[in-house]
Amino acid sequence: MDKSHSYIDKIGWQFDNTYTKLPNYMFSKLSPIPVNTPEVVAFNYSLSKEIGLDFSNIPNKDLALIFSGNLLPRGSDTIAQAYAGHQFGHFTMLGDGRAIVIGEHITKDNKRFDIQFKGSGKTPYSRNGDGRAALEPMLREYIISEAMYGLGIPTTRSLAVVKTGETVMREIPLKGAILTRVASSHIRVGTFQYAIFFKDKNNLKTFFDYTIKRHYPYIKDYKNPAIELLKIVIEKQIKLIIDWMRVGFIHGVMNTDNMTISGETIDYGPCAFMDRYDPETVFSSIDYHGRYAYFNQPSVARWNLERFAESLIPLIDNNKDKAIKIATEIINSFSEKYKKSWFEMMRRKLGLFGEDSNDESLIIDLLSWMHKNNADYTNTFCFLMDEKIEESKIYKNQGFVNWKEKWQKRLKLYDSSPEKYLKLMRSVNPLVIPRNHKIEEVLKDANSGDLNPFSNFLKVLEKPYKKQTKTNNYQFPAPSNKKKYQTFCGT
Ligand code: AMP
Ligand code: MG
Repeated sequence: MDKSHSYIDKIGWQFDNTYTKLPNYMFSKLSPIPVNTPEVVAFNYSLSKEIGLDFSNIPNKDLALIFSGNLLPRGSDTIAQAYAGHQFGHFTMLGDGRAIVIGEHITKDNKRFDIQFKGSGKTPYSRNGDGRAALEPMLREYIISEAMYGLGIPTTRSLAVVKTGETVMREIPLKGAILTRVASSHIRVGTFQYAIFFKDKNNLKTFFDYTIKRHYPYIKDYKNPAIELLKIVIEKQIKLIIDWMRVGFIHGVMNTDNMTISGETIDYGPCAFMDRYDPETVFSSIDYHGRYAYFNQPSVARWNLERFAESLIPLIDNNKDKAIKIATEIINSFSEKYKKSWFEMMRRKLGLFGEDSNDESLIIDLLSWMHKNNADYTNTFCFLMDEKIEESKIYKNQGFVNWKEKWQKRLKLYDSSPEKYLKLMRSVNPLVIPRNHKIEEVLKDANSGDLNPFSNFLKVLEKPYKKQTKTNNYQFPAPSNKKKYQTFCGT
């Protein structure tokens, strides 16, 4: 860094890079490959403030230099992380093929965040890829991850998108871009699968100790920390999937390398939100068999957690059979726990306090009605919260009217009042979600240089449970004559 950039030192970066102290086969040291003419497209000033970084005095041209990787902050130590993963059920060696962690930034309240550039050039793990990313998919990750944050769902965040001024070749030439992602770590189920692959228990133990020190330090002195970690990650993932189900989010590519130990949603590729309720909804163009369909998400999570448990076996007990028995019992608790949490979540969506023996059928009946009648998932709950819905004709349907009567009777149990149940419902049912057709619209505009629609949408998505002047503009489901929405992995 030359002297003319010394004000960059005042931004407030506090790097403390610990991942680079792990055994060196866990990562590769390398720098981002500089880009041609970087230009800032989106920048998250509020996130930067939250993590104690001050960019208010930094001109856009320098922001672009920093977040393209052309001008690295002092204290950064750039690496690509190694990991493995089951992709659609098949085990593969992977790693950051187009991402570089520039360092771990420590906030004033002592929180640690990976700062990662996605699209920063080839790495030893790129395989046949070019290491680059395109503008629209990076803006897509930015807006959807920030929407998830607004929805109160654990997620990695997005700090910046910078155009590179270079072309990336996909099916057609696209504008290149780099996304800066902020995550409590990038440790995945796949990182554990990688750590155990070499069958060196000491190395696995080193990585395990690193992970618990970073995420769950309080379990260090437990009798069996490996069992504890497995239990915690199961809890975290159940909570996460329940949140996804609550808002109709479909991750789209729940490979084990895309499941974090922190419980944050990661890797926004072919993800999308469901409009009309259909449990079999799949958007990803490569998910031919619906492995990652909306309603399969809990069972896939369980499958991934089994892979996680397998990689902890040597640390659970020296006796392999005993370790497997313990791990199996813990994994078997998943379904019951998930089911219980799912009903709790659905009760909240319906404003139901306490429990009643008919709750299960009340909930299932509503979902079946929505499915049969192609009702919009988000808007149905908005309608039940007395929100004005443009497409409300469907709710005059006799089946729905009958169901609503039962629901209203149930609401009266447990001393509830409209004030009470609406408050509960409004805390869990978003008025607005990043609807696919709206996302497409704003990305198209952004790609042609008009970022206003993107920023306006982002603003509304910051507070999805709160009615805002522009909320209505984003509540329409896609017109039903629109062809089936598809998402792509080339992100
Ligand atoms: P994902 O589907 O985003 O989880 O990515 C799966 C794997 O493919 C990861 O190892 C990525 O780093 C890698 N990858 C995806 N796109 C590219 C690319 N354009 N160049 C190199 N590696 C890539
Ligand atoms: Mg991934």
